[in-house]
This record gives sequence, structure tokens and C-alpha cells, in this order.
Amino acid sequence: MDENSILNRDVRYVKGIGESKAKKLASLGIRTVGDMLTYYPRDYEDRRKIFEIDELHNGMAAQFRAMVIGRVITSALPGGRHITKAAAADDSGALQLVFFNQPYLSKSLVPGKEYMFFGKITLYQGVLTAVSPEHEEIKPGVEPVGRILPVYRLTAGVNRKLIMNSVSSVWDVCATELKDPLPPALVEKYGLMEYARAVRNIHLPNDPEELDAARRRMIFTELLTLSLGLGLLRGKREAAQGKVIPPCRPEEFFGALGFEPTGAQKRVVGAILRDMASGERMNRLVQGDVGSGKTAVAAAACWAVMKNGGQAALMAPTEVLASQHYASLSPIMERFGIKTALLLGKTKAAERRRILAGLASGEIGFAIGTHALFTGDVSFFDLDLVVCDEQQRFGVDQRAKLVSKGGEPHVLVMSATPIPRTLSLVLYGDLDVSVIDELPPGRKPIATYVVGESMRKRIEAFVRKQVALGRQVYIVCPAIDEDDTDELKSVSEYANSLASSVYGDLRVGVLHGRMKPAQKDAAMEAFRRGDADILVSTTVIEVGVDNPNASLMVIENAERFGLSQLHQLRGRVGRGSAESFCVLMTDKTGSERLKALAGTNDGFKIAEKDLELRGPGEFFGSRQSGVPGLRLASLTGDMSLLKSASHEANAILKADPGLCAEENSGLGELVSGFFAGGVGNRFN
Ligand code: ADP
Ligand code: MG
Repeated sequence: MDENSILNRDVRYVKGIGESKAKKLASLGIRTVGDMLTYYPRDYEDRRKIFEIDELHNGMAAQFRAMVIGRVITSALPGGRHITKAAAADDSGALQLVFFNQPYLSKSLVPGKEYMFFGKITLYQGVLTAVSPEHEEIKPGVEPVGRILPVYRLTAGVNRKLIMNSVSSVWDVCATELKDPLPPALVEKYGLMEYARAVRNIHLPNDPEELDAARRRMIFTELLTLSLGLGLLRGKREAAQGKVIPPCRPEEFFGALGFEPTGAQKRVVGAILRDMASGERMNRLVQGDVGSGKTAVAAAACWAVMKNGGQAALMAPTEVLASQHYASLSPIMERFGIKTALLLGKTKAAERRRILAGLASGEIGFAIGTHALFTGDVSFFDLDLVVCDEQQRFGVDQRAKLVSKGGEPHVLVMSATPIPRTLSLVLYGDLDVSVIDELPPGRKPIATYVVGESMRKRIEAFVRKQVALGRQVYIVCPAIDEDDTDELKSVSEYANSLASSVYGDLRVGVLHGRMKPAQKDAAMEAFRRGDADILVSTTVIEVGVDNPNASLMVIENAERFGLSQLHQLRGRVGRGSAESFCVLMTDKTGSERLKALAGTNDGFKIAEKDLELRGPGEFFGSRQSGVPGLRLASLTGDMSLLKSASHEANAILKADPGLCAEENSGLGELVSGFFAGGVGNRFN
């Protein structure tokens, strides 16, 4: 970033801030003018209007002026806590004031005096109540706020006033020097608010309209920065050289699979082989719904590399899944004279040494494993391709670590989470994307039912019927032995009760995350071999596990799961030719989400719905670990701005691939600032 930029100036030297305030601000990470101006409010309080009490209703956050009437009473609550109650009234009506853990209020709130209150209005025990409202006594000379107030994240010793005053000081000194980072043409094209004015209005809005315009402007800037950053990464990668894997005919490999690949599988394999023959490094994401046959596609790519004497590595997120890949792929590879090894965290020292030697000498061509594949002492003779299965489980840095093991291997990422296009633009902006949009033939859609507790007996009968037909059943529960989830079905307990009572005559297995990896594998294997009729499990089975004989899945407390996760779970059945079923047990049989799931088997449609209903958190793991650098923008609410920003970013980079032009210098600074904030690591 430009060292002379006003944004880099230390706030200490800003008139009106000084040493002592600067120290306090530093405890919030605010050191420079730029930090201060981008310390955006997390919310706002509209204090322009003073409400009459009879206008207040449940759910509002409102300002009202009222007199404290009657006594102010503090009483003790269990656990050493206190509650203080009082009544307040204006000409229009009365309400209750409730404060928690502020016992001193029984002295400072004085009956008969008038106060300006601001707080959340609820119904507490059926009575209209302001909960712990801020309050200030009405005295001559004290003006009501009369404006929209920003709400900041605070810390001890730093209150709202300090931040508001500091922002004001910074703005007064710097406003004229703030340079709009956006090219004027863009500002005009999208009717964006002028930069300095937007900065001020984000913090100290004049009115809701100005606030909206200011936010829109800042959000557009963030999304444009993100899009430019991803575009630059893609550009860099396109320049990266990759080993040329000579073109070959995959039919030879397909012949060993035991089934005819679908058109989509052939198409995606074709794209991969072209990538790897191009001389550029492949960085491709394959998205395919559960059961679409991603493993065969990955295996074909690995085969092509190994056929040419190179090595390939397939990394799975769990030991269960890695073992399963090993079991299904090593016999196929053996037919081509390729040696496969399975490397897990639990692999015994001697075996591990043997495998490491084989990988280093090149004797082992194909390495399958968990992230144990990429710990420090593993080295490869000639690693040309790295495949990450079920990518959403891996951080991008893990992907990077793994890539660092080879010279510059091609990278193939497999994801079973269908991601709406707009999101994949952001999440995987640095990858090329192929979609396997066709399921192997003969698959019947999984019939899905949302049912309540009253149906339990019938469901039990249905489970028995499936078992009697020689099929197997998954029963999935959300959590295990958590103290605060006693109402949830805890897996081990639940399995025991099923095994000893309801299904006492059937063979019931258990699988959960707290089991040792060896126990997990054993449970999974037993189920796959058919040694258990029912597998009671947590979501450990969510990813990739394959047992074509399983035809029914019963999911308990289904409302606790995300929609995409339920879809993934459901994908564990319907992998064979038998008709398959998924039963979602829930108290919330009216749930729109669950109905959406029952209504379609199309993962992409479900992903769109999930995005609409729950926001992008599902895709990023959690909101907190969302896209870094986006402070204001949300990837759901601001979809149309994202599209515009991404469109403009492409146009800008096409004309000026390095962002070197004078008019783009502001954008260049934004992008490097954005990456300096840690985003770079994410995408390296
Ligand atoms: P996913 O995409 O969920 O990883 P898998 O690769 O595990 O799916 O494949 C699911 C099942 O479908 C496996 O049992 C696999 O052998 C089988 N399969 C894959 N492709 C085909 C195909 N073209 N024809 C028939 N069965 C297939
Ligand atoms: Mg898979």
C-alpha cells in the first residue's frame, strides 16, 4: 500500500485524538486512520423519534420519554444475580422496566423523575417491558439524541462516545484528502455515493436513505475488491506451468471399472486430461452431487498420470473414506501394474516407513490417505497430481500444503456440496469448475418423508420391512453425549436402547465421532459387509461412505441439520438399484426447509434454497470464518451487487491485467490491502 496514503497515518497524530485515546483505540486494533474509518458499526439505533408508550410493541428497539412511577425494587435471583423492576409512564400509557444485575439502580432511578429511555421492547411475563434500557434523566440543557446512532463493538474503557468522537475527528481532518479508490466512471455508472460522504454516513448517518446509499457504495467496493483479487489470482495461475501429461484414451481405464461411465463423467475426465496436457498447471474443481460418481473421475485422472510414470495422491477428509477409496481403487490400479498405498494417521511406524520409502523411490505410484499424506517427512519421487476429495472439509491452506509436496502438481478438487453459482464464483474464484450433472443410470430418486413422533411405530415397522427384504438401514442422530443436549438422541445411548428393546432381534451397529479411528473403521466395515442390519450413527457417515445395500435412512431431530447436510446424509442411501427412502423425524413437520428437501433430489436446487433460507454460513463453515475482507457485504443479500462487481472486475482486468493504469491505482491499493489482511494465505 502507498506509504504516503492518508489512510496509513497514525491516529495518535490526529487533532482531537492524541496519546491517551489512541491507546484505548489500539485495544480494538485501531491504529491508523484507515483502521478507524473502516471500524464500521455493527448496527444502528434510530433515535430520531421519541415514541409514545402506547406506540411501543414487542420486538421494537425504541426511544421513549417517561416518568418512573411507584417503587424501584431489586430482588435476588438464583446464582447471585439480581433483577430490578420499576414502572414508567407517559401521557399515553405505562410499561415495566426490567434491569438485570444493576442493583445500584434502586438508588439512581428515582420515582417521580422523568428520563429518556432507549431499549428493546418485549413482552416479559406477558407485560410490555423495556429490558435494561439506557436512560438519562431529563434536565434542562440535556438534548435528546435526535439522530441515528452507530453501535460499535466495544471493549473495556472504550465506549461509543469515544469512537464516535474519534471518527469525527479523523473525518474532519482527513475528509478533503480521502481519495476515491474507484474510477469515476464506475461511480457514475452505478450512481454511487461520493467516497468521503459515504465514509461519514456509514458512521454518522444523516438519515436512513443516506445510510443505505453509503452502505451500498462500500459494499460495492468490497465486492469489487474481492472479485479483482480473485481475478488476479486466476491470472497468476494461468501463467503457472504444469507438467505435460501426454493425451491418452481413458477408455482403457474405464474398461476396468466394471460399469459404463456416464456422459458427464466422460466429459469431465476429458476436460481434466486436456488441462493436464496443456502445459499449464491444472486447478480444477469438480462438483457433483452425492452418488454422481466422482471417485471414478478422480481415479481416471490419477491413472493417466501414473500411466506416464508419475505419482498421484488422493486425499480424503476422514480415515473411513480414505480406507474405502483404497479398498475400491487399489485392485483396479493393480491391474495396470500400479502400486497403491494407504497412509493414515494411525498407520503403524514400520508400515509407514515402508510406504514413505516407496513414495520417495517412486515404487508406489498412488498414495491414498488423509492429511497424514502431507506431514513433514513425506516426500514424493515425482508427484504430478493431487486430488482432494470432498473439498469443503479442507481449508485452502491444507490444499496449499499438499501442493507444496510436489514440484508443481496439477490439482483436482472434488466437492459433493453443490454450490450456487454466485457463491462458487467467490469460494472457488481461483479454480476452473466442472459439474457432473448426471447420475449413473438406474438410480431411483430417494423418496423422502417428513414425519412427526406420532408416526414412530409405523417407521419402526418400515425399518423391519426393509431388513426383512435383506436391506440395511441407517439411523442418524445429531449429537453425542453433550450435556446440554439431553433432549437430543445421544447416539450410544440410543443405539443401546434400540438394540435391547425395539430392534432387540436385529443386529445394531454404532458409529460416532468419539470412537477411535480403528473402532470407526471396524463399525463401518461391519455394516458394509452386512454384519449389521442397522447402523446408528452421527454425521460421521455424511461424507462419501458407500454401501449400495442400504436402502433406508431415518434421521432423528432432522430440524437440527442444515439442508445441504441433510441432502449429503440422504445420499448414503439410493446407491444401489433398490428403491430407497429417507425419513426425516421431527417435531417441526411444517418446516419449509424439510419440505424443500422432500420435494427434490437435485442438490443444486437444495443449495439455492439453503442459501436463501440460511445464508452463506453453511458453505463457509460458519459466519465467522466467512470470506475475510468482507466487512459489510453479505453474499446473499448483495447478490446483484456481487454480479455487477464481478462483471466490472473482469472488464477492468481484461483492459489492465496488472492494475497498473493510473485510473486503477486506487483499486490496486485496495486489492493489496485486502490480501495483506490474510486473504492471500487463503488462496495461495
Ligand atoms: P460420489 O460422487 O458421491 O463420490 P461415488 O464415486 O462414491 O460417488 O459413486 C457412487 C457409487 O456409484 C459407487 O458405488 C460407484 O461405484 C457407482 N458408480 C459410479 N459411476 C457409475 C456409473 N457410471 N455407472 C454405475 N455405477 C456407477
Ligand atoms: Mg465421493
